[in-house]
Amino acid sequence: MDEIIKIYEKCGISKDVYQFGENILAGLKERFEQYDKVAEYNQLKVVEAMQSCRVSEACFMPSSGYGYNDIGRDTLEQVYARIFGTEDALVRPQLTCGTHALAVALSSQLRPNDEILSISGKPYDTLEEVIGIRPGTGSLAEYGITYRQVDLHEDGSFDEEGIRRAIRSETKLIAIQRSKGYQTRPSLSVSAIGNVIRFVKSIRSDLIVMVDNCYGEFVETIEPSDVGADMVVGSLIKNPGGGLAPLGGYIAGTKECIKKAAYRLTSPGLGKEVGATLDINRSLFQGLFLAPTVTISALKAAVFAAGIYEALGFDAYPAADAKRADIIQALTLGSPEAISAFCNGIQSASPVDAYLTAEPWDMPGYDSKVIMAAGAFISGSSIELSADAPIKPPYAVYFQGGLTWPHAKMGILKSLQKMVDAKLADIYIN
Ligand SMILES: *Cc1c(COP(=O)(O)O)cnc(C)c1O
Repeated sequence: MDEIIKIYEKCGISKDVYQFGENILAGLKERFEQYDKVAEYNQLKVVEAMQSCRVSEACFMPSSGYGYNDIGRDTLEQVYARIFGTEDALVRPQLTCGTHALAVALSSQLRPNDEILSISGKPYDTLEEVIGIRPGTGSLAEYGITYRQVDLHEDGSFDEEGIRRAIRSETKLIAIQRSKGYQTRPSLSVSAIGNVIRFVKSIRSDLIVMVDNCYGEFVETIEPSDVGADMVVGSLIKNPGGGLAPLGGYIAGTKECIKKAAYRLTSPGLGKEVGATLDINRSLFQGLFLAPTVTISALKAAVFAAGIYEALGFDAYPAADAKRADIIQALTLGSPEAISAFCNGIQSASPVDAYLTAEPWDMPGYDSKVIMAAGAFISGSSIELSADAPIKPPYAVYFQGGLTWPHAKMGILKSLQKMVDAKLADIYIN
């Protein structure tokens, strides 16, 4: 026991902060056991998919040029389709990030005069320019595609009456965002998404339902595509990349949706046939293999952070005891100083760039300054221990990631240490 306290002290975490954490953890034992079961289930799901799709050493060979017959790429896409329970998938380094994958998914299905209906309220910040909610060069709005949204009810449930009223003949695609992103609202469970998809399809069965699945993959044992979504879309530098994917995005869905997405991503006439993967297939496979346990480490981190900061009197979304639908933990810390202390605690706990100080900056795609803490092996990867906060009220910090649970734990304790040192949190109150 002394040994562990000594190494924490060596890392700049006092015995009192460590002990405060242990007290919180004692109450989380059962939750953690449930999460381990989810990891176990999803680990088997991934391995079974790799085996049944006959992943072989040949899948790790690099390809160049046009990338015709890239067996690794094609096999990986089959593996994703099997895991997500879809007919097909597009999983590529040419999908540069989550926003791009979502932009391709949307623009591939929509034609002039079609309408997108978002039924989970405002979409993720970066999608505002993609859709044209905020002016964006090359936005869907410039191509005559319109957008409407129905907000969630106050309690985070879908507004079915509002959705029924909003669907009209132009409506082509229903967009749902599983994770709260940078909002303080509940994230959506797969079963709630399944219920609303059934409702939407009962109104018009031809509507295409797209789910922004970012941060949600492997948090539950089922995915939105298992409950009727036509397309699920996400980023490989979040959950499904397992921390090893150096870039990329995925779209998994129906044959028809994926065909259109592939022709949009590359070119009409080319579709899925081109797209060299250089030398990254091994990382994409291996990252996917690790993703279930990595995601659960991040989930434990989120719950632990919520437990700690709730005990100190701050608001946590979701609450420490709430059911989880993604790995993001929002903590309302109430001031720019607290946000900065928290983020710099995370920064100083990183394996990379720990000596740097995080400062607010004007990040492309966001409408206020953002402070980001990340010392990541993969630049900007948010499945790695990271925290970011838009510098605007209510001064909520969004915390996520942690490739391993012990490291995530250390990062959270380090954030607490910074808060305690700056007299922004009092661990001696109780
Ligand atoms: C991260 C995220 C995106 C965008 O992904 P990037 O890889 O950052 O472009 C979109 N939607 C949600 C909900 C996200 O969390």
